[in-house]
Order: sequence, then C-alpha cells, then structure tokens
Amino acid sequence: GTSGRNSQPGPGPDSPDGKLNLSARTVLVTGGNRGIGFAIAAEFVAQGHRVAVTSRSGEGPAGSLTVRADVTDAASIDAAFTQIEAALGPVEVVVANAGITKDTLLMRMSDEDFTSVIDTNLSGAFRVVKRASKGMLKARFGRIVLISSVVGLYGSAGQVNYAASKSGLVGLARSVTRELGSRGITANVVAPGFIETDMTAALPEAQQAEYKRNIPANRFATPTEVARVVTWLAGDDAAYISGAVIPVDGGLGMGH
Ligand code: NDP
Repeated sequence: GTSGRNSQPGPGPDSPDGKLNLSARTVLVTGGNRGIGFAIAAEFVAQGHRVAVTSRSGEGPAGSLTVRADVTDAASIDAAFTQIEAALGPVEVVVANAGITKDTLLMRMSDEDFTSVIDTNLSGAFRVVKRASKGMLKARFGRIVLISSVVGLYGSAGQVNYAASKSGLVGLARSVTRELGSRGITANVVAPGFIETDMTAALPEAQQAEYKRNIPANRFATPTEVARVVTWLAGDDAAYISGAVIPVDGGLGMGH
C-alpha cells in the first residue's frame, strides 16, 4: 500500500512543546483519518509519541504516519504492521478504533448487514490485536485499547449488529487480559457515548435532541474528550488497569 507522512515534524521523542518525552511509545490507531480515531492519534502526537494510523482513505493528523489498511483483511493488517515496524519500531500501544454502523430494525436486518458490521468492528479488532500481540509479547509490554460504545452494554433499537459487535469487544479485552496480563500487557475497553463525529452528524436532528434529553450531561462529547481517556489508559498511570470498561458517555450508561 501507499503511505505518507504529513508535513509537520516527524514523530519522535520530542513533543511539540519542546519537552523531552522519556516514555515515548510507538502507537497505532486504526481508522485514524477522521472522527474519534483522528483525535486519538492527534493526542498521542501532542504527547510526543511515535504515531501511525491506518486508513482506507485520507490521512492521519500532522506528525503521524499514515498506512493504508483494511481491518477486514488480515494480510493488509500484517503489511501495515510490517511497514510501521520498519518506520517507527514495534507497536507498543494499539487502539482498535475502526468501526462502521449499518442500522436497521432486526426484522429488516440482512445477514450481510449483520456480518459486515461484526467483521469490521469485532473481527477487525481481533485481527489487529492478534498481530500486535506478537511484538508486545516479545517486548513484555503492551497497551491495548478497544473502542466500543455505550450501546454495547446498554443496547440500542436498530443496532442489533453494532451493539453485538461492541459488547463482543468486552469479552475480547477481558480474555486478552487473562492470557497476556502477566506479560506487562493490558487490554481495556473505552465505551464512548455520543460524540460529535460524522457518525452522529448522520443522525436526524430530532433523534439527536432525543438522545441529549437522556444524557445526564445534556450534551454530546468532543472526540478529544475520548482521546484523553485513551492516552491516559496507555500511559504509566493506568498500568494496573486491565479488563476494564471505561465509559465516556456523560452518564448515559451510569458506569454500566
Ligand atoms: P467515523 O465514521 O467518523 O470513522 C470511522 C473510521 O473507521 C474511519 O477512519 C474509517 O476509515 C474507519 N474504518 C471503517 N471501516 C474500516 C475498515 N474496514 N478498515 C479500516 N478502517 C475502517 O466514526 P467515529 O469516529 O464516530 O467512530 C470511531 C469509533 O468509535 C468506531 O468504532 C465507533 O463505533 C466508535 N464510537 C463512535 C461514537 C460516536 O458517537 N461517534 C460513539 C461510540 C463509539 P475510512 O475513512 O477509510 O472509511
């Protein structure tokens, strides 16, 4: 695939504020070209880490390395990792963020509507985590963060496929925690509520208002509010947190 680095200073140990980041990590964010993934990648760059993003289209934030990859294709993920390892070193932090929706009521949901969402959101995360675990086991260090959703545990009419994929990530993270927890590897789930991105902008106005009424915070969040929780989970202060589901939802799920 093609790859490109944006014009800003390349990823390195020096953060933009000039302070040396002594614990700079190599970070991969899938779906880092827009929305929440873009904000997560930008936050890691701002904290002085070496950051790669995968995307099928478009570029990650300034200072990141963009690599083409489709999470439904294991060979494409493997090629992306090989490219990132050559450019930035083994991936130490992986954020499985790429995701899609195909909302419709159960009665109208086709097999394809269901399996394609599972294939991207759940199997995609599996493929990425599996490939990342190789280097993490060797390094005896790793931070795995899976981007789920409040609806994974809350349920959502019209999202049988999506909610199933997102709750599946919880079982994935917890099983990885049990398998790899003794090797310095943590695996956690971040469950955002409603975040201002293309995904929520596509919702009808009336539906957006209805959702806000049910959110104790009475607003949607910015992608950066999710990103800061992800970078915290990847950092030293969260080293003893694993198998957790961290809601970033303004109280909608009441901590699940
Ligand atoms: P967007 O629709 O803005 O972005 C989705 C990202 O996923 C894009 O970068 C897209 O890449 C990538 N992607 C989709 N399919 C694939 C694929 N097969 N292979 C590689 N990349 C793929 O979504 P958001 O930023 O809103 O959502 C990001 C994550 O957060 C998702 O997992 C979503 O489920 C979750 N989330 C979002 C919430 C919200 O309110 N927005 C709430 C809760 C969870 P490309 O541009 O190339 O298609």
